[in-house]
Amino acid sequence: MVYLIKNACVYTPDPIGQCDILVVNDKIVAIAKDLSVVLPELETIDAKGLIVTPGLIDQHIHVTGGGGEGGPKTRTPEIVLSELISCGTTSLVGVSGTDSVTRSIENLLAKVRALNEEGVSAWMYTSNYGFPPTTLSTSVKSDLLLVPEVLGVKIALGDHRSSFPTTQEVLHLLTDIRVGGMIAGKTGFLHIHNGSVPGAFEMYDEIVAKGFPIRHIRPTHCARDKYVFGKALEFAQKGGRIDITTGGSCCFDSPADAVQKAWEAGIDESLITMSSDGHGSVPRFNDKGEMIGLGVGGVASNLRDMKVLISRGVAVEKALKLLTKNVARALELKGKGEIQKGYSADLCFFDENWNLQSVMSKGVVMMRDGECIVKGTFEE
Ligand SMILES: [Zn+2]
Repeated sequence: MVYLIKNACVYTPDPIGQCDILVVNDKIVAIAKDLSVVLPELETIDAKGLIVTPGLIDQHIHVTGGGGEGGPKTRTPEIVLSELISCGTTSLVGVSGTDSVTRSIENLLAKVRALNEEGVSAWMYTSNYGFPPTTLSTSVKSDLLLVPEVLGVKIALGDHRSSFPTTQEVLHLLTDIRVGGMIAGKTGFLHIHNGSVPGAFEMYDEIVAKGFPIRHIRPTHCARDKYVFGKALEFAQKGGRIDITTGGSCCFDSPADAVQKAWEAGIDESLITMSSDGHGSVPRFNDKGEMIGLGVGGVASNLRDMKVLISRGVAVEKALKLLTKNVARALELKGKGEIQKGYSADLCFFDENWNLQSVMSKGVVMMRDGECIVKGTFEE
């Protein structure tokens, strides 16, 4: 398909004013003022009055379902396509969680491939919480080499459910990721579920002090605990990238507060990202603080917190980058996270109040005028 998007107020995520965008198949091929194009089968989209941004990237979603910590009936369901599209997420990284027994990595790869076929862009981390890692093939190195969707490895550290590997074991895993990445032509990342047990960031300090490059070490859930948040800021001061989770618990009133605190601490803006932790299980509590049930973590919290930041007067581009350019650069997702010539045609269309109106993913209109028009295979 060929689309000419006219008169959009474009954030690349940097603001470039009112522009037209030409999309051919899955790519953006031109961005300019007053573009006029004559092509057969061209569809013109009038975006006057609409804000157009890159599609959002969510680097931590339990796409095959997570949870299971309260027995089999607490295993959360798989995600479906329209959940992603309805909150503007056009790219994602699938992760596994606590349950390494019933949630296989092969199942995660199949789901990631299904989502790619259904219309979004999806990658994954191999392994889950434990150590030694659970892999698709014989090793972390060969997973990185043989499976294009694998960006690195997931592990839990500083958490009561982790395997409590030693610093030497984590360093060994990191060097496997680094060398596997070299062979595969990737960077290779260790995506770390950071729990509230002290010690994990101290371990990263020790590893970096040995001369290991900090860019492979990627902690998430950096604002679930005050101690961890403080250590995460120190880590970012040294050039490490930190990810703040918008779903589930937060040690501040809102994850947006955590992001603003990190900015106030003088952290390089490009080092901060947000992700949802969607489709993990979320306990529900009554007024007395007693657990009364479990819910499924949604993926809309990223968009919610981006809007919170914008409503507080944060520059649009600064809030947008947390879910677009910063993530794409952090994970080296080529052609993603920006509205640029040659980049993937992943676009969100918002009204002036930041209500999501339409979504395009890989050049296909997935949501139009507030309605998901492309559904997942088993959706109504
Ligand atoms: Zn998670």
